[in-house]
Amino acid sequence: MNLELELRAIAQKYNIDHFGIADLIVAHGFIESQGGPQVIQYPKAISIGLTLFHDIIDQLPNRKTRSVSIAYKHHCYDIINNRLDLIVSEMSSYLQRLGFRVMPIPASKRIDDKKLSGVFSHKLAANLSGLGWIGKSCLLITPSDGPRVRFATILTNAPLESTGTANDNKCGECEECVTICPPKAFSGRPFNSNEEREIRYDAHKCDQYFKSMRKTNDWATCGMCVYICPYGRNSK
Ligand code: SF4
Ligand code: SF4
Repeated sequence: MNLELELRAIAQKYNIDHFGIADLIVAHGFIESQGGPQVIQYPKAISIGLTLFHDIIDQLPNRKTRSVSIAYKHHCYDIINNRLDLIVSEMSSYLQRLGFRVMPIPASKRIDDKKLSGVFSHKLAANLSGLGWIGKSCLLITPSDGPRVRFATILTNAPLESTGTANDNKCGECEECVTICPPKAFSGRPFNSNEEREIRYDAHKCDQYFKSMRKTNDWATCGMCVYICPYGRNSK
């Protein structure tokens, strides 16, 4: 039995668009600093991604319209996250039945309200498995769909081969996400794994922007950094 092929078959059954396996050893220091000792025990990560619906993302410049905002939040966030969580759960059960240890990571759950981050970075797993690079927006940019992808991860000790390594950064001179972000949350500095995220992205500015929008309407959303990236806009 080829374990990777079995997992790819499960991914295909659930219409997963992006699948990768990352070797986490190279990033153990960062992983431990973010999630602590419980997440450092796993040498491999399985990264799965679902491409968002382009026709909804393309409407985001009109995101203050209730119908656009609700379509985005429902079908490009809530439902996609639920689908990712269900697939991760299914794959985790499969691996556990085979005798391997697994830690399914929720698609979108903040555990650190100060850093505004989760227990493990899905972008890190996707990046290390060769699915894309970290853009100036601090999003994972895939060559085929840009940042229009949501990811979830399974940490495991299953004996899987890595599917790639971190992609070269292809942002180049582009600064479209930096320019369009309403609260100017991005510094425009290219990703450097040796630097803190805060040098490139002030998550509190994004958070505050959402809070200020919610004062006037409860369906407010943004996602302009997802919309604008040329690697996503040109992918259809
Ligand atoms: S979601 Fe909007 S406010 Fe937040 S970082 Fe992206 S463009 Fe900026
Ligand atoms: S919009 Fe441009 S700078 Fe921002 S992530 Fe995409 S390619 Fe990189």
